[in-house]
Amino acid sequence: MANLAIDAVKDMTYDAIVIGSGISGGWAAKELTGHGLKTLVLERGKDVKHIKDYPTTTKNPWEFEHRGQLPLEVKNQNPIISKCYAFYEGTEQFFVKDAEHPYVQEKPFDWIRGYQVGGKSLLWARQTQRWSDFDFEGPARDGFAVDWPIRYADIAPWYSYVEKFAGISGNRDGIPQLPDGEFLPPHEMNCAETFFQKQVAQKYKDRQVIMGRAAHITKPQPIHLEQGRAQCQHRTICERGCPFGGYFSSNASTIPWAARTGNLTLRADSVVHSIIYDDEKGKATGVRVIDANTKEVMEFYAKIIFVNAAALNTNLILLNSTSKRFPNGLGNDNELMGKYVGFHNYRARVSAEYDGHLDSTTDGRRPNSPYIPRFRNVHKQETDFLRGYAAGFNANRKSITNQDGLGESLKNSLLNPSLGGWSVGSHMMGETIPKESNYVALDKSKKDPYDMPQLKVSIDYDENDEKMTKDYIEQMTEMFTNAGFKNIQAKDSKQAPGLDIHEMGGVRMGKDPKTSLLNKWNQLHECKNVFVTDGASMTSTSTQNPSLTYMAFTARAVDYAVKEMKKMNL
Ligand SMILES: Cc1cc2nc3c(=O)[nH]c(=O)nc-3n(C[C@H](O)[C@H](O)[C@H](O)COP(=O)(O)OP(=O)(O)OC[C@H]3O[C@@H](n4cnc5c(N)ncnc54)[C@H](O)[C@@H]3O)c2cc1C
Repeated sequence: MANLAIDAVKDMTYDAIVIGSGISGGWAAKELTGHGLKTLVLERGKDVKHIKDYPTTTKNPWEFEHRGQLPLEVKNQNPIISKCYAFYEGTEQFFVKDAEHPYVQEKPFDWIRGYQVGGKSLLWARQTQRWSDFDFEGPARDGFAVDWPIRYADIAPWYSYVEKFAGISGNRDGIPQLPDGEFLPPHEMNCAETFFQKQVAQKYKDRQVIMGRAAHITKPQPIHLEQGRAQCQHRTICERGCPFGGYFSSNASTIPWAARTGNLTLRADSVVHSIIYDDEKGKATGVRVIDANTKEVMEFYAKIIFVNAAALNTNLILLNSTSKRFPNGLGNDNELMGKYVGFHNYRARVSAEYDGHLDSTTDGRRPNSPYIPRFRNVHKQETDFLRGYAAGFNANRKSITNQDGLGESLKNSLLNPSLGGWSVGSHMMGETIPKESNYVALDKSKKDPYDMPQLKVSIDYDENDEKMTKDYIEQMTEMFTNAGFKNIQAKDSKQAPGLDIHEMGGVRMGKDPKTSLLNKWNQLHECKNVFVTDGASMTSTSTQNPSLTYMAFTARAVDYAVKEMKKMNL
């Protein structure tokens, strides 16, 4: 009997466990298995195999029951996710429905989630900019949060490492606050966008309009072909899953790569309840899991654990991991876990019309658009708000379709729309300041379907965000006016935090265990064999999109963890 028990534990034991299989978990899996570690990836959602499980990826609009639209009933049942632009008939299978996984909104927060193998990597918009020292030095310079324990030089080689494998397209623009990377050829701007680029360059020394940097394979390199990925076909229906692997997702890239090593065990439908801490050994020994189908509770064991459940769920799992040593959550001696959550301020948009270049139009599709890097308060404080914002920009020729007529005449008018002028648009991407009052915590009075406490979210904008929103609207209006654009319209949607889908923090990195949870290697100060490398670990939020940074931190932390394990002969 004793032998049987030992064998059973052995069967449940791995070198490493990764919680979550999204962008950061996929990278942890790839790196850990690549170093020869037997790795168990636990994913709470269903399995999604590359190509096979993309049910809508080759569907034409007329093959959808509702022509791509969602029925009103679905929208009414899902008021939160219906706000996300990427939620439609072709993608609904990849979004967590509002009623499935409840959470408590102490303040309004639109939590957009994808629970499946691949996480939100299937759904994301693939914008991938490096962060710079203007970000990593930000908290120290401007006196908020805590100082980052690293600088750009620490992470730069890891950006290069992940970019080459993931495939990032872009130009080398030479902008200090937006470091250049290892780029595949960039997407092209159209003539109206180039016009605006030139206008801005002429009128502003400190502002640039550049092509967005995006995780699309514009020219496959041998490393991409080896992954079985091919050139992006510009279908612009990426969120349905790409059978070409044209954009980076865990499903197309890191997870199959990890599987090829023979060291990966991927267990879908496995909800991680908590991390097991052994008081005597003084370390984490494994995880408690609830099987999503049978509700059976089981345990898995490993020497090291990577927590990559996406920022807020990582907070939930760690807060729920209590023991005699850690009654308030794993590694949470200073009781700061769950606090100092940040996000991106995506509230405002400015749109206009441009009546130049009427002899030209665009041809085909482009899965990317131009980008205006942060220009406020970069080198020094110059406004009445801290930090700054980046902005997206695009210009499109308006097509005016005449839907009159029947049969052939209707078809002809749909196929040959007459062209109106250009419509141009911009949206803000503002940095927010992580604050103690913006927090998540466990609501122990409310349980989810797995008997886990629900997450209580209490996150809001502040005066800094209001001033920044106003400034974005003023500056973009001025830039559009200077470019000769007409009919300029600004809108502050006042949307709740969350819809930016860039929530970060709660388990922040820092130098001092008294004021941070993780050290410079993303390792819990107080429980050294647990690493957090998703958004939860971010000390501040930058204006740049975050996911490329999660990838780089993950690869760097695995490299460190493996070296430490070797040193300790584990
Ligand atoms: C529409 C959209 C557009 C976006 N655009 C961009 C963009 O342009 N650029 C950018 O940088 N980012 C973008 N993002 C955000 C980006 O998708 C996330 O930053 C990124 O996916 C985070 O990676 P992650 O590994 O932390 O989390 P995820 O990719 O969400 O993966 C987390 C995984 O953990 C699993 N999990 C959670 N809890 C548990 C548990 N208890 N047990 C087991 N498994 C668990 C989840 O099911 C999920 O599969 C966008 C997101 C969306 C939805």
